[in-house]
Amino acid sequence: MHVIDPPLVSAAAIQARIGELAFEIEADFGGSPLALVCVLKGGLFFAADLLRQLSMPVSLDFIRAQSYAGRHSKGTVEVSLWPSIPLHGEAVLIVEDILDTGRTTDALMTRLRELRPARLALCTLLDKPSRRIFPIKADYVGFTIPDRFVVGYGLDCDERYRNLPAIHALEPD
Ligand code: 5GP
Ligand code: MG
Repeated sequence: MHVIDPPLVSAAAIQARIGELAFEIEADFGGSPLALVCVLKGGLFFAADLLRQLSMPVSLDFIRAQSYAGRHSKGTVEVSLWPSIPLHGEAVLIVEDILDTGRTTDALMTRLRELRPARLALCTLLDKPSRRIFPIKADYVGFTIPDRFVVGYGLDCDERYRNLPAIHALEPD
């Protein structure tokens, strides 16, 4: 496997876009408190950078889920970490690395809704709409990308490449 250069999205472009997203989020939510829920592990750097651009009071929590596609079924989503802060009545923003088929995020949003937040919004750094199976649409999208497997800025391939500062396509040698 090798990382393709130049990156699909540069480190500077990521930071500039995060500034714009923060501006949009602040405009939509006003100055009211926001509970940010980062989806691990891929959303780690995005959540950390977005959080620092938001000026309203924010709390931070984490969620971790893995999706297993069954042979016939829609697949099951196993949650291995759940927010510890009560989200009932809160304005909640889920922060994701990438929206692909939408399976994982769809399941997470369904389960988070059961906690009865006042508002539940979704922010994803990357969106691959051509791959979507589950009818899910993010409220905030950093970059819409083609159907390529990408790594960097939190996104991995077998736990490698998360530390790259930019987003790169990955291709077999
Ligand atoms: P879903 O199909 O449920 O929308 O996506 C599930 C997960 O697959 C994402 O959260 C992400 O971890 C992984 N994924 C999907 N597309 C990519 C990609 O292009 N690169 C990497 N590193 N992970 C991806
Ligand atoms: Mg992954």
